[in-house]
Amino acid sequence: MADHDSAHNDVRPRTAVLTRGFDPGLSFGSARPAVFRASTYVFPSPEAAEHAFAITTGKIKPAPGERADLIYSRFSHPNSEILEDQIVPLEPGATDAAVFNSGMAAIMTALLAVLRPGGSVVYTTPLYGGTTGLIHFLEPWGVKGIPVRSGDSKALDEAIRSAKDCCAVLLETPANPTLIMTDIERAAESAARHPDRPAVMVDNTFLGPTFQHPLLLGADVSLYSGTKYLGGFSDILAGVAIGKSLDLVQKMRSRRNMFGNILQPDECWLLNSRLPTVSLRMNRQSKNAQRLAEALEGHKQLSSVIYPTLFKDPEQKRIFEKQCAYPGGLFSIDFKGGKAAAFDFLRNLRIARSAVSLGGLETLTCHPKSTTHSGMTGPELAESGVTDGLVRISVGIEDWRDLLADFEQALAAI
Ligand SMILES: *Cc1c(COP(=O)(O)O)cnc(C)c1O
Repeated sequence: MADHDSAHNDVRPRTAVLTRGFDPGLSFGSARPAVFRASTYVFPSPEAAEHAFAITTGKIKPAPGERADLIYSRFSHPNSEILEDQIVPLEPGATDAAVFNSGMAAIMTALLAVLRPGGSVVYTTPLYGGTTGLIHFLEPWGVKGIPVRSGDSKALDEAIRSAKDCCAVLLETPANPTLIMTDIERAAESAARHPDRPAVMVDNTFLGPTFQHPLLLGADVSLYSGTKYLGGFSDILAGVAIGKSLDLVQKMRSRRNMFGNILQPDECWLLNSRLPTVSLRMNRQSKNAQRLAEALEGHKQLSSVIYPTLFKDPEQKRIFEKQCAYPGGLFSIDFKGGKAAAFDFLRNLRIARSAVSLGGLETLTCHPKSTTHSGMTGPELAESGVTDGLVRISVGIEDWRDLLADFEQALAAI
């Protein structure tokens, strides 16, 4: 559990993730944390219970380095604390993190920690479908959603500048499934000039925590569907919010106490065990995806291959080079033959499977227009570039030559 040990602050993320956050002395010396499946915690005295509640409810500030005694597992538990401490070093510029039982739970809780009735949230489109649904759900409750098309930096500056009672700026970059990028630093600068000082939140699921570091670019919160690359094995649902300031994370935790959407001990343990390999996996997935995307570029069945190293728009190239260390494990292909060709391709794949979600060890493919993006209206689909022939591919860690052979035989079968 938490030993906020300064001894490990001077090492790099990949080392810190293995050395920080877990004290074997608190788990009978076991090399891996135990799983604490308790719903409630025993106090040594009534005074201790009173003190723990005073800290948890914010009546008193903890002493430097002090952590409130555990009370009840909806608030926190040893495995959530270990996971939160261990994930912080993976996000440069972070001070604290809060874990949730899904990515949507993290996004909802982060937004509700900063939104006020009558307040506005400026957001890039397309966003993950669930997130768009959440913003539309909040509108009748008095929240104003202000959409801006991804990659349109001028429109984003202007939307932020003119937003009244602006509580949050929510970016998702790269966008799904077109990989259009938004300049995080520029958006954060616009937000910093706004008198309301809106919180800048970035859904960093696609390229973080390995290849894109929003907090270093001025964002306040980095949000994750831990279900994807962090979890990495397509076997858990999880969400994480990682913050630059302790205050904001504490606000999210107090909402989490109320909503009851903390990540449970077993899932925390699982996600915890995946953290040290996230950069290994993502590096391999990115290398595989780059080889595949570049090999398929120009194929006679395809009208385009969408991948950051193949960007043609100078502004998109500039953003990619400035804010992403590597291009990542996702790419999309657009079929000249539209939906029929896309479906033929999907039907004929032998290694890559057809499923939504992404970021797992295995290669997954999907047809966004008929699945993940089927809730969008015609104009929304057109504006976000989700065409009939578009297929999204989440590349796994298989040998890339086998994947390429699989894609080539499925393309030949159209
Ligand atoms: C999957 C996903 C989410 C939602 O996460 P869940 O863990 O499914 O709740 C949010 N944002 C992005 C970019 C995603 O890919």
